Amino acid sequence: YLAKRGGLGIAFYRPDDDRHTSERLTVVAELREAVERGDLTVHYQPIVRRSTHEVRGVEALVRWPHPSRGLLTPEEFVPIAEENDLIPALTDLVLDRALAQHRAWLDAGLDLPVAVNVGGACFLDAGFPARVRSLLDRHRVEPGRLTAEITESAVLPDAGRASAVLTELRGLGVRLSIDDFGTGFSAMGHLQSMPLDELKIDRSITAQIGATEGGKAVVGALIELGHALRLEVVVEGVEDAATCAVVDSLGADRLQGYAFSRPLPPEELVAWTRPIPAAATP
Ligand code: C2E
Ligand code: MG
Ligand code: MG
Ligand code: MG
Repeated sequence: YLAKRGGLGIAFYRPDDDRHTSERLTVVAELREAVERGDLTVHYQPIVRRSTHEVRGVEALVRWPHPSRGLLTPEEFVPIAEENDLIPALTDLVLDRALAQHRAWLDAGLDLPVAVNVGGACFLDAGFPARVRSLLDRHRVEPGRLTAEITESAVLPDAGRASAVLTELRGLGVRLSIDDFGTGFSAMGHLQSMPLDELKIDRSITAQIGATEGGKAVVGALIELGHALRLEVVVEGVEDAATCAVVDSLGADRLQGYAFSRPLPPEELVAWTRPIPAAATP
């Protein structure tokens, strides 16, 4: 294609290209290895009940502790996982961690239902529901304690095949949530036909509350839409007390965001849910 672009391909050759290509190949190989060896970690962000703000559950969010680049966020490597067919293996890994964690918390007397982000590739994978089932069994977790968060873009490209997997997952008793809602209106028509339990309003929509005049009305309308479809509504990206008060007043069922907590490693999450009382002063 270099020749097409400018005749003498060599003129467009930049020594940097090779380096970038090989760097990229290295990252892919490293990610593949991290997934295979289970070298990814999972942080948990609390999801709280409206008004009282008691914790109702957590969302599992994957992290990659890279040996030289530090703790990488999903934005930095989930797209690479998508391009390289690593999503099913990554999802299995996160599910395994999250269900083991849920079981450990439960054994410690803490009931924290867990939500896991399930990438699009899983919905084209007919073996996925059976793997979820066996992970639930292995960790002795009730299916209703697990929520699968899916995005519209994940299920749209092949709605027919995806809906078979969705229906099977729902049949197991797993809750289904539509994530990042409001970022694309393509699924509006599908919303009624999908076997959903929950609608999760994207943080870019939530951010409008403080930023634009109509922001509050939009969030209110999406909450009403969810309720009209008999879905529980979660508002994510609640960053401050003012937004929190508005979202409470609009009637969202649950809230999630930095106003309550950032995603935390499991040990810190426990400390967050059970504040250690200050030592009594003598
Ligand atoms: P998401 O599922 O919409 O997750 C919420 C993201 O918003 C998280 O970013 C969380 O840290 C961030 N967030 C939460 N509260 C606030 C807030 O108040 N303000 C702001 N500005 N951000 C907030 P994170 O952990 O970087 O994850 C980003 C995305 O990566 C997730 O978006 C999800 O789509 C994807 N992802 C995360 N874990 C997994 C996974 O295990 N598998 C797959 N396939 N995707 C994942
Ligand atoms: Mg999510
Ligand atoms: Mg979300
Ligand atoms: Mg989002």
